[in-house]
Amino acid sequence: DKHTDFNRLENSELNNYYMRLEERYENIKNEKMKLDMSRGKPCPEQLDLSMDMLDILGSDDLLKAEDGSDCRNYGGIDGIPEAKELFSKILEVDASEIVIGGNSSLTMMHDTIARAMLHGVPGGSGPWGKRPAVKFLCPSPGYDRHFAICELLNIEMIIVDMQENGPDMDRIEKLAGEDEAIKGIWCVPKYSNPDGITYSDGTVGRLAAMQTKAADFRIFWDDAYTVHHLNEPDRLKNILAACKKAGNPDRVYMFSSTSKITFPGSGVAVMAASVDNLDAMRKQLSVQSIGPDKINQLRHVRFLKDMDQLNSHMKRHAAIIKPKFDKVLETLESELGGKKIADWKKPNGGYFISLNTLDGCAEDVVRMAAEAGVTLTKAGATFPYGKDPRNRNIRIAPTFPTLKELETAIEILCLCIQLVSIKAILGTNK
Ligand code: PMP
Repeated sequence: DKHTDFNRLENSELNNYYMRLEERYENIKNEKMKLDMSRGKPCPEQLDLSMDMLDILGSDDLLKAEDGSDCRNYGGIDGIPEAKELFSKILEVDASEIVIGGNSSLTMMHDTIARAMLHGVPGGSGPWGKRPAVKFLCPSPGYDRHFAICELLNIEMIIVDMQENGPDMDRIEKLAGEDEAIKGIWCVPKYSNPDGITYSDGTVGRLAAMQTKAADFRIFWDDAYTVHHLNEPDRLKNILAACKKAGNPDRVYMFSSTSKITFPGSGVAVMAASVDNLDAMRKQLSVQSIGPDKINQLRHVRFLKDMDQLNSHMKRHAAIIKPKFDKVLETLESELGGKKIADWKKPNGGYFISLNTLDGCAEDVVRMAAEAGVTLTKAGATFPYGKDPRNRNIRIAPTFPTLKELETAIEILCLCIQLVSIKAILGTNK
């Protein structure tokens, strides 16, 4: 039977199966394929969806924002009113709680932490960087570029396990409640990168209300995939409202961007937080820049318009990428289902499918896949310091390849998982 639990097969059966799979693997290697599934990039058809945005502002257009400011010129540090309005709807906060940035939310996150290290944050007792140690809680698997910011700024990372409803809150409450050096936590609360998990109301409520030893503790709430649904939308509880209600209005910095709505690298980024947090930030921002790209903001607002228009646009994205997610899930099921050598998540949105192999197998799987021409995200990348303690997590990014390429790539991935797993099982059976 194709779907038997590998752990219950006799060594001789496993050996036979291994030899058959190995022959297939060698044949594929000789085909010298080149498939890249390493990063979550939109495919060209998705980018085509936003081409009309490039024609939306013409040379005979009046490039005036709602407040009368000339978008062609300097002026305004934190965004035009109509952009704040649109993003306030997306993030479900007040327009006064929004600052529009440049082309990248990652830059805003990096700069927010860098400013905290250099100058501190409201409610704190000076620069984080002056303290003997600064630590962040890192729900993992998570987003490698968040971890890279901590590594660069010498912030110690503490792994917290991701569970079905978000990160392990018992552990978070204990750690943040005890250690004054813990100044922050990274969260991708909706369709998380890579697990595709949306935090439950209970998780959001506990993050907002928990006791923290550090008075200037901050939640870095990266809501990058908030409108990126594949099925019926998940609902995420509003963290800023929850923080206010719990008496911790300054606890959270929220981030998002249009990178995977329009054009990555040429989108508009946004931050939301309490007015006190934003006032402190604006002072520093106005030293860093004379103002953001208002023309791009205007282009985005005129193209995306309102939530109805934005949601229809996102449905067109979903129509392109959902078949790709389905293909990956079908292939994983047909190749690995029942074998008990891997499990994977079925996300309702976002950009990734997260797969766990047997403990200790991920690095070998990723290496073998690369040798057969399939580039995956580096094993370990989804953990702080690039080190997955159980060496089992693999992040699959299905959006960029074509359906045909994807099918081939996942078949190769499954082949590698089986080869490495059989070796591991035979190793323990010995
Ligand atoms: N946050 C998450 C969770 C991401 O996956 C990504 C990558 N698309 C980003 C932020 C980067 O966003 P930006 O392009 O706005 O810097």
